[in-house]
Amino acid sequence: MIKSINPATLELIGEVEETPIEKINEIFENSKKAQKIWAKVPLKQRARRIAEVNKIISNQFNEISLLISEEVGKPPSEAFVNEVYSVMDSTFHYYSTVQEFLGKTKEIPLKFYESLKKKSILLRKPLGVVCVIGPYNYPFTIPFQQIVQSLMAGNSVIFKPSSETVLVGKKIQEIFDQIDIPKNLVQTVFGSGSKLGNPLIDNAQKILFTGSTATGKRIMQRAARTLTEVNLELGGKSAMIVFPDADLDRAVKAARWGVFTNSGQVCSSVKRLYLHSSIYDNFLNNLVELTRKLKQDIPTKPNVDVGAMINEEQLGFVDEMVKKGIEEGAKVLIGGKRNPNLKGYFYEPTILTATNNMKVVQEEIFGPVLVVLKFDEEKEVIEMVNNNQYGLTSSIWTNNISLGKKIAEQLDTGSVMINEVVYTFALPSTPWGGIKNSGIGRSHGKLGFYEVTRPLHINIDQYDEPDLWWFPYDKNFDEIVKNFKTIASSLVLKDSEE
Ligand code: NAD
Repeated sequence: MIKSINPATLELIGEVEETPIEKINEIFENSKKAQKIWAKVPLKQRARRIAEVNKIISNQFNEISLLISEEVGKPPSEAFVNEVYSVMDSTFHYYSTVQEFLGKTKEIPLKFYESLKKKSILLRKPLGVVCVIGPYNYPFTIPFQQIVQSLMAGNSVIFKPSSETVLVGKKIQEIFDQIDIPKNLVQTVFGSGSKLGNPLIDNAQKILFTGSTATGKRIMQRAARTLTEVNLELGGKSAMIVFPDADLDRAVKAARWGVFTNSGQVCSSVKRLYLHSSIYDNFLNNLVELTRKLKQDIPTKPNVDVGAMINEEQLGFVDEMVKKGIEEGAKVLIGGKRNPNLKGYFYEPTILTATNNMKVVQEEIFGPVLVVLKFDEEKEVIEMVNNNQYGLTSSIWTNNISLGKKIAEQLDTGSVMINEVVYTFALPSTPWGGIKNSGIGRSHGKLGFYEVTRPLHINIDQYDEPDLWWFPYDKNFDEIVKNFKTIASSLVLKDSEE
């Protein structure tokens, strides 16, 4: 059995049965059968039937939010806004747009070849069995959105939640069990990635993985054996850059939320703060004072802002990183230790001043820890921000939007927010994903649908003569080659052409 422990109270809150590895083949067989039936259902109907999950969820707002809170350690209100609402909003959005992205047969212009009565059309087809492997930090909204897009596109899904969040995983399965879809179209497997990962990767047509960079690399390595497609949503070390002309009151509040929401266990949370030297002292004092006001406690109590971290191991890692930072010369302005007043896995909201080459600045800590740095010049701050292995999101604060855009274009991340932090994951119409060690591929929106489908190109020929380039290569063919050469010469750009 896999036990689920409340990280704030350390109480056992439930358990689920581990999926035996011997059952994986049967699970795939059932998945393939269900997918064949499902793919025949017209797209519009598929989307309609999947969108029924919103009705099921709407009857359990509090129950689901509380479950996420108890299993992950975040306040239930935060769980509702950031996870439950986000699932319903994105499901509705995918339902409203799937026809536009996947339902249309597109004709591709063929120019010269059209004169030979040739035509090409492009369709998008499901991949087959898509395997969704989820992380612990947003155990509801991250995999849910990937499952919804995969199913609407006509795939079946095998879902493996993190072993830390098996009860939320079970809840997701229960929701899909209540809608009108073929049996086994969604199946959830429970167990460690080290046991179940390889057979999932070996048998699926696609892996939609969200988790750490180290695991993502392991998955990609394994996937090379079977050329299984992978989408990897991995770690981050997002930077927030604040210029003196920004709305500093709003920026300081954004920084506080952007760092400490979900105890900093957010791939895109603000992990590095770059302040212009002219505002450095004031901004930092305000941020420390605001941070002091955060209420950290058992998250199901009223008005708690910051809850617990997921487990002892992650908390220990955060503590070790902070200690390393101090050894390297980082200064603790607030926090810097486990919360001594609470018995669960609580780490105090922590702010450190640091310099760019320190480990605490370069590596993902994945806890409630912010490092703060100073800059003078645009070029300098762009270089510091880009000098990092991760490239998920970044945030620029200025009232000069054209400056913001100019800098945004020079930052090596998948998304850049101007005067915002973290939240674009919640925009289901925009692409989500990173570069460098933050991953490969995109979730959400049109690109998310493209990740779970393959293009099918159909070429139709109604020419009633042999094609010009077919045998025999005789005198007549020499003439044809000459004509091709004339056409080829006309394809050279003239100097005057832009
Ligand atoms: P993790 O890598 O430890 O685990 C993620 C999932 O992978 C779990 O379900 C785990 O069981 C599974 N797994 C482990 N080894 C595996 C293997 N060999 N084969 C297949 N599956 C395997 O990550 P985590 O601790 O749950 O999540 C935290 C990390 O996720 C952080 O680095 C965070 O930045 C990242 N994350 C990224 C995004 C994003 O959108 N980019 C979102 C959330 C979290």
